[in-house]
Amino acid sequence: METYDLVILGGGPTGLAAGLYGTRSRLKTLVLERGTIGGQLAVTEDIENYPGIEAITGPELGQKMLDHAEKFGLEMEYVDVESVDLESEIKVVRTDGKEFHAKALVIATGSTHNKLEIPGEDEFSGRGVSYCAVCDGAFFRDRDLIVVGGGDAAVEEGTYLTRFASKVTIVHRRDELRATKVLQERAFANPKMDFLWDSTVEEVKGNGLVASVAVKNLKEDRVYDRPVDGVFIYVGLSPNSQFLEGVLPADEMGHLHVNLKMETKFPGVFAAGDIREQSSRQVASSVGDGATAAIFAEKYIAEHFTE
Ligand code: NAP
Repeated sequence: METYDLVILGGGPTGLAAGLYGTRSRLKTLVLERGTIGGQLAVTEDIENYPGIEAITGPELGQKMLDHAEKFGLEMEYVDVESVDLESEIKVVRTDGKEFHAKALVIATGSTHNKLEIPGEDEFSGRGVSYCAVCDGAFFRDRDLIVVGGGDAAVEEGTYLTRFASKVTIVHRRDELRATKVLQERAFANPKMDFLWDSTVEEVKGNGLVASVAVKNLKEDRVYDRPVDGVFIYVGLSPNSQFLEGVLPADEMGHLHVNLKMETKFPGVFAAGDIREQSSRQVASSVGDGATAAIFAEKYIAEHFTE
């Protein structure tokens, strides 16, 4: 079996930046991606904080990153990684039926949206409950929507949803948003946006499709039904590191421990982007992580493998 110089797990901004730096260092580089190229970019409508690009859609930026790296020879495989063997000098990555060998590995598997874990959430998923405004927003033309969460994703995607919906109400468990100020200012100025403070959603109800939610006012300790056509949930992200449980040290959430070179405890194994501890989880910082990991992977390979 052919051994790659560098195998990268994950085709989001981190993995694609590592792929670009790897191929430009003339490393034989492969990215393994289980879903859609771009990672979180694929489900983000507007990117307007990536330096040098004033505004671009997430899917477009993801495609540009892929095209850029492929121009320099990046290889892609669309597979789901099941396990890894990191202790030997040649790292092994296993998928359902396939195995990949590499001199160095960059883990950039990113993160996935959290669920609220409330009654009705799973039952109405795809029937009014959504985690992706870009994918589902257009189905809610002239409808009344709620968005749960108070971070960047809730406020930014909520604002995006006002392009379709008649009204978007942000339901937040505190009386102050966590989102970046410029996103807050835009949301507060939007006449289609409304806010329910100190409130949580306790249940999603309906008959085939979402019809209402049970909202709890935390200050008054009062639960009431609110009619609504759709519920978009943005309550944070969790790292996609389940397949590494017990293999690599991580914090209680599953973010992997790394040093400033993105090195894990295994020589030649790097972790970068949302998957690592203390990540700021921005496209710009993820790209920086990916570049850093690939640069030190290239140094590692040069020092440990001589032709
Ligand atoms: P986040 O920043 O972790 O915010 C999650 C929000 O959900 C918080 O407001 C939190 O409330 C609330 N929440 C968490 N668990 C909840 C629960 N069980 N019930 C009700 N509310 C709950 O997550 P995010 O907005 O998905 O963003 C993730 C990362 O991506 C962040 O680093 C963010 O900066 C980045 N991001 C950036 C952009 C951008 O720059 N434009 C866009 C999207 C995402 P509390 O505030 O009370 O904790």
